[in-house]
Amino acid sequence: MRYTYRLRPGAAAERALVAEWNRCRFLWNEAVYQQQTGKRPTYHRLSKMLTAARGQFTWLRDGSRVAQQETLRTYGLALKHSFTVKDRNRPAFKKRRVSLPTLEYTLRGFSIHDGRLHLPKGVSIPVVWSRDLPSPPTSVRVYQDSLGHWYASFVTRRDAEPAPEVDGAIGIDWGVSTTATATDPTHDLPYAGHRKRCAAELAKAQRKMSRRRRPRGQAPSNGYMDAKRQAARLRKKAARQNTHTGRTWAKAIADNHQLIAVEDFKPKFLARSRMARKAADAAIGSVKRTLIASGTRAGRTVVLVPPAYTTMTCSKCRERQARLDLAERTFRCANCGHTADRDRNAAWTILATAERNRAGADDVSHSLSPPVRVVVRVLSEPGIPGLGGR
Ligand SMILES: [Zn+2]
Repeated sequence: MRYTYRLRPGAAAERALVAEWNRCRFLWNEAVYQQQTGKRPTYHRLSKMLTAARGQFTWLRDGSRVAQQETLRTYGLALKHSFTVKDRNRPAFKKRRVSLPTLEYTLRGFSIHDGRLHLPKGVSIPVVWSRDLPSPPTSVRVYQDSLGHWYASFVTRRDAEPAPEVDGAIGIDWGVSTTATATDPTHDLPYAGHRKRCAAELAKAQRKMSRRRRPRGQAPSNGYMDAKRQAARLRKKAARQNTHTGRTWAKAIADNHQLIAVEDFKPKFLARSRMARKAADAAIGSVKRTLIASGTRAGRTVVLVPPAYTTMTCSKCRERQARLDLAERTFRCANCGHTADRDRNAAWTILATAERNRAGADDVSHSLSPPVRVVVRVLSEPGIPGLGGR
């Protein structure tokens, strides 16, 4: 797990970090150049070259060996992924004005004492400890965001914290206007997007940007850059608020329910269309990950239910109905007369499907009473393939 904290480097420490980044960026670009000229820069070959280069150049020796080696390791991984992972491009040059500083340190390269993060070559930075680290970290990524803020993201272990047994069971259906519809309406999670106040302030900043925009080819004005920074700050603020809401929501669900049945939503089916839809899909993806993580950590049974037919199946009699028009918000069963909100009915169907499969073992494939055939995956431990860390 990653635990991220704000860093408050002084002027000297910030200069040192930027200098370190420039050296690492040089190495990265050198590796990209080698690849482009057909030299096959494997991590092994690159680190040999690094050792030779450090012997030769003082300016390279002035930087941390760990940070430089980790840059090459990251490069090696990015190159490998560009061959093995679909839609991944070859690593590209990192340009000075566009790329943001990122430095990686393993245990040999950092330590924490007196509340400060100590990096090689005498760099020491105060950390804002907004919460405690659950265990000693094994590595850290020091990076700067587009607003100029510095962060330290520690990789650390967080053990399961089984919560007291409870009886409740809940079903969750994902949606665009309401991110999560639960069987229990008090656990619904409305889609926040940018909060009202944030949205108004953001619109103001964007209007200012368009007023101050200069024609192409001219350097942007200070007023334009100010407004741009302001807009970025507001977007970041909204994102942080949404993360917080998602965590609080997930915790409340994990605290009160032993069985959590979740629609196994796969964003890529929907995300091809509009921007708003994309944002809503991204929100679902992140909230779903949070819910699965806090559910499994609390020792709850988290069941991922395939979304097929959940909106069409009656949660009372399990009879499948005709496909609902997307604008139709009410589900009506022609068989038993059950009427419910479309999403609420789907949430109940998801819960019912999970409960029917509850007795099963880890990977159960069940043929339920026809015509619904469902495959349920019961999650018993963290680390779900395809959902795991970033
Ligand atoms: Zn029915």
